[in-house]
Formats: sequence, C-alpha cells, structure tokens
Amino acid sequence: MSHIIHRSLQSTPLTAVGARGIHIMDAQGKAYIDASGGAAVSCLGHAHPDVLAAMHAQTDKLAYAHTSFFTSEASEELASHLAAHAPRGMDKVYFTSGGSESVEAALKLARQYFVEIGQPERTLFVARGQSYHGNTLGALAVGGNEWRRRQFAPLLMDVGRVSPCYEYRGRQDGESQDAYTQRLLQELDAKFQEIGPQRVIAFVAEPVVGATLGAVPPTPGYFKGVRELCDRYGILFIADEVMCGMGRTGTLHAVEQEGVVPDLMTIAKGLGGGYQPIGAVLVRAEIIEAIRQGSGLFQHGHTYIGHPMATAAALAVQKVIQRDQLMPQVRSRGAYLMRALQAKFGQHPHVGDIRGRGLFCGIELVRDRASKATFDPELKLHARIKAQALANGLLVYPMGGTVDGRHGDHVLLAPPFIVSEADVDQIVNRLATSIAQVLAAAG
Ligand code: PLP
Repeated sequence: MSHIIHRSLQSTPLTAVGARGIHIMDAQGKAYIDASGGAAVSCLGHAHPDVLAAMHAQTDKLAYAHTSFFTSEASEELASHLAAHAPRGMDKVYFTSGGSESVEAALKLARQYFVEIGQPERTLFVARGQSYHGNTLGALAVGGNEWRRRQFAPLLMDVGRVSPCYEYRGRQDGESQDAYTQRLLQELDAKFQEIGPQRVIAFVAEPVVGATLGAVPPTPGYFKGVRELCDRYGILFIADEVMCGMGRTGTLHAVEQEGVVPDLMTIAKGLGGGYQPIGAVLVRAEIIEAIRQGSGLFQHGHTYIGHPMATAAALAVQKVIQRDQLMPQVRSRGAYLMRALQAKFGQHPHVGDIRGRGLFCGIELVRDRASKATFDPELKLHARIKAQALANGLLVYPMGGTVDGRHGDHVLLAPPFIVSEADVDQIVNRLATSIAQVLAAAG
C-alpha cells in the first residue's frame, strides 16, 4: 500500500518508469501513447535531448537561488523570450510554479493594481460557468466547475457568473452564430450592470475551454466583444491560457486568433512541457508601472518562483518550438487530427460534437445525437473510456457529463507537437476501439 495520498484514495495508479517521444512506459514494460500530453503539458514529448542537455547544464551551474536575493540568467532570458513573443504590450512576466499559482497571482495583481490607482471599491471578479481555473481557493472560486467547488463553496469568494461560450449546447435552434454571440455579450454586460461595473476587477476566461468542456473554441467576435465591454467599464480581462496556450492551438497564444490583447494572461503547462513545474503571468506594462509608481512592491511570492531549473528547462522547450518551427506543424497536424476524427466519428451515433483548434481537440459523447441527450452520469462513461484506453495503450483526458445535462461526457486530445500523421491514425483508431468496447459493455 502506497504512503502517497493519490488522487483516488481507493487505488494506486500505474508506476511510470520511463518515457521517450510520445510514449510513456510502465513498470510492467507496457508502452502508452501519450495522446493528451498528460493534461496538455508534454508539448515536445518526453526526453527531448535539447531540453535534457539544458537541464543538465543548469544543474551544474545553479540549481536554486531565492528570488528575494537573486534573479538568474535563465529566468531573465526566458522572460525576455516570452516578452518578445507576447501580444502587444504584455511584456512583463511573473513566474510561478504552475497553473493555479499563475491564476492566483493574476487575481491578486489585478486587485492590487486597482488599489494602487485609487479604485479600491473594485473587489469582484466575473467568470464563466463550466470553466476550470485551478484548485487553490482563489482559482477555484473563479472556476465554474460545480463538481470541484461544491464542498468548498463556503470558503470561496463571491464571483459573478455568466454562461460559457459553448455553441454546441448554448446556441438555440434557429439562432444564428452571431445572434448567439451577441446574446452572450449582452448577458455579460447585464452581469456587469447588476454588480455595478465600478465594483468589478476583471473578467476571467479561457480563450479555448479545456478541462471542463473539452477544447471548445469561442464563436467569432466573442472575445472582441468581451474586450470592448471590459474597456467600456475599465474592467481588466484575464485570459487563462494555462491549458490552451503556449502553442497548443497553433499560435503561441490562443487569444492571438481572436485579435484581442488581454491585460493579464496566465500560462503554464506547455511553457515547461512537463520537464519542470513552471507557470507565468504575462502582464501589460502599464499595470506593473502603476504598481511600481505606487507601493513599488507586488504583495505576493512563493519560495520556488523563478526557479532556475524550471526557467532553464522552459527556455529550452520554447527555443526548440521556435527553432523547429513547430507552430505551423501544430496547425497542419491539428488539421490532420480533426480530419481523422471527422472520418472516424462524424457519423457515429454517440458522438454529438467534434471540436478544437490545433492539437487541442475534443469529442462530446451523447446518448442521442438528435436531442443531444447525455448519457446517465452514473454510468461514468468518461472514466470507463479512460480506463479502457489505458488498457489499449492510449492516454486520453476524458471528463464527465453533469447531472443536469449541461454537457455530455467528452474526451480531450492534446498530443505532443511532434506527433506524426501515422501516430495520429493510431491514436484515433485506439480511441475508437476503446469507445466501442465501453459502449458495448455499457449496453
Ligand atoms: N487554468 C486552466 C485553464 C487549467 O486547465 C488548469 C489545469 O488544468 C489550471 C488553471 C490549473 O493548473 P495547475 O493544475 O497547473 O495548477
């Protein structure tokens, strides 16, 4: 019996003993295709020689120095790299050790900014339903994932909640895409009005929704409308790109494809590609300048922020992405993956929607395609698919439907950027086999 407190307290997961490229090996010698990059983390696959070399070199030079005394060459270079490739003006970088920490830091930075510029009455965030922003209390509070929030709700801060941009289930029969988008924006405007726009700190949203819905991109013009509304009321826009960012959707930042610049952007997973725990917040320079001219100190910090081993690994990952021109590859392999999913599941009686961007794709399972009725959540179809895929040597990231039928079970795919077309075929085939086996067993 393991002494580790694992996610499930009823079972011990498999032991991973090695990994190469797109494969992870367990202690029994079985290899699994990592088709979800863990949870959209492993963008370069495993054991990339350039990243390993950079990590070894950094270990020899400097493993750790506390950021209250020192910065490091690796951290400075990574920050410069991120600033050079950031959306216009977002050239300030705050390092963290992961996604939730990035969201916490972004929320606190946004709040402190308004205190420093003399608007302390701004105390509330607005965020969307069916979203995930992390598991720490602040990040959990802005997240709209009821299942994760339920037992902690009394400890969480109040957040204004609006509908997600989720066309498959949100757009009504006969409603045009544009009318749907406008309806969502009116809802956001109404929420700002209800709270009092001068009391709102920021609107928080994932440009492409990951964990909770399975790679749901926004409708055209949605984020332009969000930006306009935020600007109208002096509210900040925080784009949470922890999962969809750092190249996953085919551009370094997902929000680039929306033609808008956020005020703060959280990144993590693909930043370090899993080689080290690292995240960051990219921030518009004016926000940091206001704090610099005010108290001169961001009231925050953790022991391991800007860890040189983490920043050196992330720098190496990002340099490989740039050197090997992996963004066009994500777009072309992503298009290939989408075609393969369409070919395999386009007519499937229990696949209601196939969606995504770049190498960030999802399929949503339904009991009935015409009515979009979900499977009974008690069936835990998503968990069964995960287990069956694992048995078939495939790692995918499924999530469950909700009791009130607001979304069905879905499967998220986020393979490494180095995936080949033959790998994609194998992934889609194994997924189809796994789903067929689970549906047959479920009756
Ligand atoms: N934000 C988003 C959009 C995420 O998808 C996640 C994790 O899946 C987080 C934040 C939290 O990141 P972490 O698990 O690294 O704390």
